[in-house]
Amino acid sequence: MKREDRLPCLHLVCKSPVSTSSLKRSCNVGNVVKAVTQALYLEDSYLRECDAVVVSVKDGKYVVLDQTIFYPKGGGQPWDTGKIVRSNETFNVVYVGKFSGDISHEVDRPGLKEGDKVHCVLDWEHRYRLMRSHTAAHVFASLLCTGTGALVTGNQLEEDKVRFDFSLEKFDPEILKEYIDRANELFRKDIPVKWYELPREEALKIPGVIKMAEAFPPDIPRLRIVEVVGVDRQADGGTHVKNLKEIGQIKVLKTENKGKQNRRVYFALT
Ligand SMILES: [Zn+2]
Repeated sequence: MKREDRLPCLHLVCKSPVSTSSLKRSCNVGNVVKAVTQALYLEDSYLRECDAVVVSVKDGKYVVLDQTIFYPKGGGQPWDTGKIVRSNETFNVVYVGKFSGDISHEVDRPGLKEGDKVHCVLDWEHRYRLMRSHTAAHVFASLLCTGTGALVTGNQLEEDKVRFDFSLEKFDPEILKEYIDRANELFRKDIPVKWYELPREEALKIPGVIKMAEAFPPDIPRLRIVEVVGVDRQADGGTHVKNLKEIGQIKVLKTENKGKQNRRVYFALT
């Protein structure tokens, strides 16, 4: 959990290459084989609802499911909200996090129990906004880093804005405006966004696949790549839109200098 929080855009997925169709996957971390929930949001970011079975419940309100559409906090992206429904009863999902490899859904009241058949429903408006801003952040980061040699030092999607930290010695607000304009130009085009897995060795050969200066993926065999076709390829476990046209436009809200070289910019979808 801690490690995942530290690595924006590196909420990496541990999936066995031979068990992609099974309901539960095995994830071999440090010789401990652990069952994990199938993360449906990684395969299809547009799934708004799914059926699931409750695998376990801790302290009455921390629920693990056999599969889920709820994104857990991590990699610079906030958690999803929504509800888990059992027959006519609704349990609101107030927090989703990853603990010891399990995706845990915190619900607002006790009652769910192991073996329950449930239906999950996302707060789609919340999630879709995050998908749009996450993809926008990738495009902006890629343009800025390629064009100026800036290094990304952190980023965080928030409910209504994106915080983006980078390191660049000579910084002029006009430069920022130029890259925001360039990103907006791309958001008017029909440019697809794809996600897929690659073997680790192959993935690490892609220039710039790891954007964070200090981030390096843990020793897992396959990396999930998010590709904005012709613009950027990056190791990433977040949820994205399928086409840049879905983003709309972005605008700068605020910029700050954080020391000699470190800059912070906040931007938002318009
Ligand atoms: Zn990302």
